[in-house]
Amino acid sequence: MITDSLYRLAERQPDAPALVFEQRQYDYRELADLVSVTAARLHAHGVRPGAHVALMCGNRPAFLACWLALGELGAVCVPLNTSLVGDGFLYTLTQSQASLLIAEPALLATRADLLAQAAARLPILQVDDTFECPPSEPTRRWQRPTAADSDLNSILFTSGTTGLPKGVALSHGVYTAAGEDMVRSLDMTANDRVLVFLPLFHANPQMYAVASVLSCGATLILLPRFSASRFFDDAIRHRATGFTFVGTVLSILEKQHPGPQHGHELAWCVGGGAPAPVWEAIESRFGIAVRELYGMTETGGWVSMNTARSSRFGSVGKARDGIRLTIRDDAGRVLGAGAKGEIVARAERPDVFFSCYWRNPEATAATLKDGWLHTADRGYLDNDGFLYFDGRQKELIRRGGEMISPVEIEQQLLKHAQVRDCAVAGVADAIMGEELRAYIVADGSPDAHALRDFLLTRLPAYMAPRYVSFVPRIPKTETQKIQRHLLAELQADCIDLASGPV
Ligand code: ATP
Ligand code: MG
Repeated sequence: MITDSLYRLAERQPDAPALVFEQRQYDYRELADLVSVTAARLHAHGVRPGAHVALMCGNRPAFLACWLALGELGAVCVPLNTSLVGDGFLYTLTQSQASLLIAEPALLATRADLLAQAAARLPILQVDDTFECPPSEPTRRWQRPTAADSDLNSILFTSGTTGLPKGVALSHGVYTAAGEDMVRSLDMTANDRVLVFLPLFHANPQMYAVASVLSCGATLILLPRFSASRFFDDAIRHRATGFTFVGTVLSILEKQHPGPQHGHELAWCVGGGAPAPVWEAIESRFGIAVRELYGMTETGGWVSMNTARSSRFGSVGKARDGIRLTIRDDAGRVLGAGAKGEIVARAERPDVFFSCYWRNPEATAATLKDGWLHTADRGYLDNDGFLYFDGRQKELIRRGGEMISPVEIEQQLLKHAQVRDCAVAGVADAIMGEELRAYIVADGSPDAHALRDFLLTRLPAYMAPRYVSFVPRIPKTETQKIQRHLLAELQADCIDLASGPV
């Protein structure tokens, strides 16, 4: 378990830098001391093995101290999305069966009414300064955590891209495996300094950064949030060597910094969703290797990844060690290279994938069948075993007998100079079954017909949207994924390219 790794590192390399946040640096001994006193504090507050504890905290040392301390106590951490309000907030709190809420005061203030409701009423422990100050006297001995690999470490909520977020139960072993595998895939060493600006309540920074740093004794540089304008200054100041991303982060960086950047030591970035032109620009302009991967919260991080040894541009890499990757048709038959179908994976070791959706046996049974995890995502493998991601099965648009991936159309539209952002969805049509509608966030005022002509030079005619709507923004999750089920609610004129405005 990763708390155990921290304590081992604290014995082996007590003076090495573990965590940097704003003006403060914690060496491994200080971080272990901080976690240790936090565990004692939480124990005094009644936290016992098996308790579920909700954690509502931004990117700051207290988040890590509480999460790792809960691990030591054998309790289960339920990180809450800090931007959740209203029903979504209440839902995650009650669904996870939390018996205590640890929270930053500022985040509590805006949810006081909600927390007063019967369903949410539970003891609250506020994060104050002592959560971030290691004891002045070193803790003499760090408690050996007692949890087993198969014990529950956390319940992480999915991004909620397709509907209500689902509580994904992850064991301690999932984090250990993610940490060790990531170190191997990226050739990380104790000299790495990893920037984390994505919210810590998501799987991405937990699996790709925290787990890997605590596996190899590297340094975590924690930033409260992503800033494109300050990005390279921060990277230079902290001598960062790597960072984790979601697609939009790279797109914004690429737009914000049109020229080469000098003086930084960034060698790699890891994450999913980098559009091909952006990937190319990040590598050639900034000299940062893009380790594009495919994964979901349920797969304990990633299923496939472009590593330092094996990488193919435009793909999401080869299967992670110990994971079998197949592409299946609707009847569950395994398809050969080049054929598109559902991505279905199996972990050959225990405690790599999630255990279940918490309190949702139907969803668990629909996803985990005979040891295989059905991702509901679509893709194909090439002859050499590289995986290509092609969107979600459910989001496929069925137009006149063709199965169309909106992702493919969006990737092409984004290449147009005047398309800042876009999303494509199906709209019901009496004749075709579904027609395609493109929602465009434009730079300037491009002509809708010209956009269609642009697509026609790159895609087959049946993939060119019939309807175009210009909108101010695309609805997205915190991790910047398109919430397609919300597109139809956008108020916007709809241009029918077959017959003019409707
Ligand atoms: P929810 O399950 O609540 O709808 P979510 O699936 O977006 O939310 P996550 O677990 O954060 O929640 O994201 C996993 C999903 O992200 C995958 O199932 C896939 O659809 C998408 N994804 C993964 N890798 C990539 C990638 N390289 N490029 C684009 N999308 C990706
Ligand atoms: Mg999902």
